[in-house]
Amino acid sequence: MRGNEFTKILGWPGYRVYWREIDETAKTLRLWVRRKRGGQLVCSGCGRKFSDAHDCREREVRDLPWGEYRTTVIIEVYRVCCPQCGVTVEKVPQLPSKAPFSKRFEEAVGLVCASASVRQVARQFRLAASTVRAIDLRYLQRWSATRRKDPLVQMGVDEIYFGKQMKFITVVSNLDTGEPLWFGPDRKQETLNEFFRTQLSATQRKRVQAACVDMWQPFTNSIAQWARNCRIVYDKFHVLQHANKAIDEVRRAEFFRKGGGMRGVVKGKRWLLLTRWVNLEGQKRQQLNDLFALNRRVMKAYLLKESLDRLWTYRYEGAMLRYLQSWIDELRWQRLAPFQKLAQMLLDHLDGILNHCRTKVRFGVVEAINSNIKTLLRRGRGYKNLAYLEVAPSLVET
Ligand SMILES: [Zn+2]
Repeated sequence: MRGNEFTKILGWPGYRVYWREIDETAKTLRLWVRRKRGGQLVCSGCGRKFSDAHDCREREVRDLPWGEYRTTVIIEVYRVCCPQCGVTVEKVPQLPSKAPFSKRFEEAVGLVCASASVRQVARQFRLAASTVRAIDLRYLQRWSATRRKDPLVQMGVDEIYFGKQMKFITVVSNLDTGEPLWFGPDRKQETLNEFFRTQLSATQRKRVQAACVDMWQPFTNSIAQWARNCRIVYDKFHVLQHANKAIDEVRRAEFFRKGGGMRGVVKGKRWLLLTRWVNLEGQKRQQLNDLFALNRRVMKAYLLKESLDRLWTYRYEGAMLRYLQSWIDELRWQRLAPFQKLAQMLLDHLDGILNHCRTKVRFGVVEAINSNIKTLLRRGRGYKNLAYLEVAPSLVET
């Protein structure tokens, strides 16, 4: 095979193979490449073009295999004397980082990472697991950098349980595109302040029109301070999470209050009580009915949770408010402390709840993003690293 045939098969635009070594026992192929004549050098710092080089050195990177042969490319890399950046290495598209891998090799590894475990990928490419993770992270970062950044008009803010060490993280997402945008440690006011300060310009902050958040004061405070034109919407998904918490408290209280046989009936019904009636099959409905026949208090709590759901079917503030008032009236004499607490919480956040009628937001998205991130976290795979998480969720469909 002649030199220019090696050049053709390698297929690095602008480069030619001028020397090669083939080791048949070790199954390795080493290719020495340099720039084809002509063409300009580009400063990797500022993009300025040069026709003269300052100096030249060799770099060795691993490239895609040729059949059974593990392939290494030794490439001549120039440095330019840039008036703006000083002596700087030239930009080589096939060398995106300082790591000893070509761009297309990293892409191959990153692609496999999307569907296989790090250990499997490491075995397949004969790399250390830590190297695979580093490659995957760079691959995802490059991919995410090329994505078009849509303007943020409606945002979602969520807190997600992240594990014993970090406890909670804050997730900001774009409700129009359904994409998570940013992750920060903890769920404090400062956490969300950090997002506004580092991720959005003053103009961009002014453009944010609505935020779907939980009734969590630190977030509310941060939004009020940073995004003046932003309406806070306490959405259905977040409020119903509180209703679920309330019903679970009632269930547990009943479990302890009543002894003996009652415990057996309430036990293990947590999931049933948290599921909406319309989503239950016949047999499950029967199980719930059996439970309700024995315990009126749990039944009442379930009905209250179910009927709260209807609050978000109203389009007019007055009607929504009337429905909420009648729901709260239902609570009287019921002695369901967790629901009384919830009612007080709703009244304290009334304006943000009624904002549902003033601002149309895509409720389903809030829930979808939330469950997608939880799925990612369950899968493990190094996602317990915030930098990783920041680029990875964009790969998950919402
Ligand atoms: Zn430069």
